[in-house]
Amino acid sequence: MSNTNDIILEVKGLKQYFPIRAGFFQKVVGHIKAVDGVSFSIHEEEIFGLVGESGCGKTTLGRSILRLYDPTAGEIWFRKKNGERVEISHLINKAMKPLHPYTEALISAIPPADPDTPFNQILLSGEVPSPANPPTGCVFHTRCRYAEDICRQEEPDLVEVKPNHAVSCHFVTELDLRGIGG
Ligand code: SF4
Repeated sequence: MSNTNDIILEVKGLKQYFPIRAGFFQKVVGHIKAVDGVSFSIHEEEIFGLVGESGCGKTTLGRSILRLYDPTAGEIWFRKKNGERVEISHLINKAMKPLHPYTEALISAIPPADPDTPFNQILLSGEVPSPANPPTGCVFHTRCRYAEDICRQEEPDLVEVKPNHAVSCHFVTELDLRGIGG
């Protein structure tokens, strides 16, 4: 069982924005939000997985943690003791039962171990939202099959629904999502 005293790496609210420049004077006209408010902790003897589609910011996140980039905002703590709260977004629990629609779609891409079991992958339509011009509300709403009006208008808070498991979805308590082999 992990606790806050055995945290090896803690990332809090990490943001990595890159300026978009245009014109003769190369004025900054916008930003590509490659990483936008990521928080998680990695404990001793823990295997931590970071999953997502191509272009979702995984590599940039790793480079920012290694300080190959200067982060725009946030904190990165290595081997800090008594690091205060654990936040992990879109995490799947030990039974691989997702609580976020994006995670549900990602793990549906895992083929079943038994080749006779039907492979029922959830295919996400549309493109990964542009980090230079993310959609309003929930960033996943343009491709989420559960999206409602509120998803297009309001960004969901990251809410800790159980210890070490936080999710940002307006309907986290209502959706019954498919797990592995579901
Ligand atoms: S907030 Fe809405 S759009 Fe976003 S993941 Fe939840 S159901 Fe889908």
